[in-house]
Amino acid sequence: MQTDQRTFVIVGNGVAGTTAAERLRQSDPNCRIVILAAEPYPLYNRVALPRYLKLETPLHKVMLKDEDWHRELGLELHLETRAVKVDPSSRTVVTDRGQEFRYDKLLVATGGRPNRLAVPGGDAHGVFNFQTLDDTKLIMDRVQKARSAVVVGGSFIAYELAEAFRHRGLETTWLIRGSRFLRRILDEEGGRLVDLLAREAGVNVVYGEEVREVATSGGAVSKVITTGGSTIDADIVGLGVGLTLNTELLAGTGVEVRRGVVTDKTLRTSDPDIYAAGDVCEFYDVTIDGYSLLGTWNNSSNHGKTAAANMLGAQETYKQVPSYSSTLFGSTLSVVGATPDSRPDLESVSRLDMESRTYRRIFFWEDRVVGAVFIGGRKGKRQITEMIRDRARVEGPREKLLDL
Ligand SMILES: Cc1cc2nc3c(=O)[nH]c(=O)nc-3n(C[C@H](O)[C@H](O)[C@H](O)COP(=O)(O)OP(=O)(O)OC[C@H]3O[C@@H](n4cnc5c(N)ncnc54)[C@H](O)[C@@H]3O)c2cc1C
Repeated sequence: MQTDQRTFVIVGNGVAGTTAAERLRQSDPNCRIVILAAEPYPLYNRVALPRYLKLETPLHKVMLKDEDWHRELGLELHLETRAVKVDPSSRTVVTDRGQEFRYDKLLVATGGRPNRLAVPGGDAHGVFNFQTLDDTKLIMDRVQKARSAVVVGGSFIAYELAEAFRHRGLETTWLIRGSRFLRRILDEEGGRLVDLLAREAGVNVVYGEEVREVATSGGAVSKVITTGGSTIDADIVGLGVGLTLNTELLAGTGVEVRRGVVTDKTLRTSDPDIYAAGDVCEFYDVTIDGYSLLGTWNNSSNHGKTAAANMLGAQETYKQVPSYSSTLFGSTLSVVGATPDSRPDLESVSRLDMESRTYRRIFFWEDRVVGAVFIGGRKGKRQITEMIRDRARVEGPREKLLDL
């Protein structure tokens, strides 16, 4: 009998949790790895959900892992099982099925849940979040019967919904509370370009407005009434109004939680046996000398790798450069590194070329480049990413980086 077998418990089987499990197994063939997963599916690709919604990707390409893969790697995957309590003194996790798992090291990779609209009718049938495969299936059902759509929010997710609804032929209105899309990442000029691209794609964008009420007919959404008093037809409403991070599991444990689960630069929480990774993790980001919350696929996956290494005893500092790339109404959007979303006091330089429909903005912290955003072309992205990674100091005028 093995007496030195370590047990790792991972809560959440998104890309952060599943990548960590795979890494743990690669490094330790004998350990016990338990994955607790609230959703009914093994890992699937959230990034591919917009393409699935647009009927551009079949379901089997959205799915990334199956139960056989877990079995072959000896990963104990418990689907539709929610971890509800952690007791750090006995190092146990309790689930909503009444199971108890003892851990040597615990990884919290629970992501977030999308916010709802706290207005009359906000929970009506036909008002959807866009986070999970099940959300997407419900949206697809409703889209088939819909002619008009309203999308709410100035986030990446709101964009994905606006683009997908329009792509599926719906009359689409996009309500943005602020003065532009991604108002902290883009400046006014970047916002102007996105506005043009959206309008050319046939999306009616309305700024400075929120939803006052969702009106229903026959039990389902039929109209949206805005704070400015407009009434807009909507057979479907899509929400992209932010995430609440799933930190409740750690309530009462003494582990430091702010908006996310706080970790040091090695992704370890204030409890030496508990780590966090992915969207839920508010980690000490050495590129900006401060704490960051990020919501990107590659950041979550890289977090999973670093957390696994450190759960096995390494002391690796997390210093990957996150990136987010997506379509943007027939153009492209790419964000690398840190943005004012993580640190509002970053300085920046930007350039818009309306003729070629390109825009770039580069962010600085002290004398280093720490992030950038590119619309309509990624020229210079590789060099900027290397500069961020290498913590290179910028000598001379910062504007020269706009010419890379
Ligand atoms: C529609 C959409 C499009 C996106 N597009 C892009 C893109 O183009 N590029 C990009 O970089 N990123 C994109 N993202 C963001 C990216 O998908 C996320 O950053 C990433 O998937 C987060 O991974 P995660 O493992 O941290 O969390 P999640 O994927 O959120 O996984 C966490 C899992 O934990 C489970 N869980 C929560 N609490 C518990 C509990 N108590 N017990 C058990 N299980 C629990 C949840 O149900 C969930 O399945 C997109 C996201 C969405 C929704």
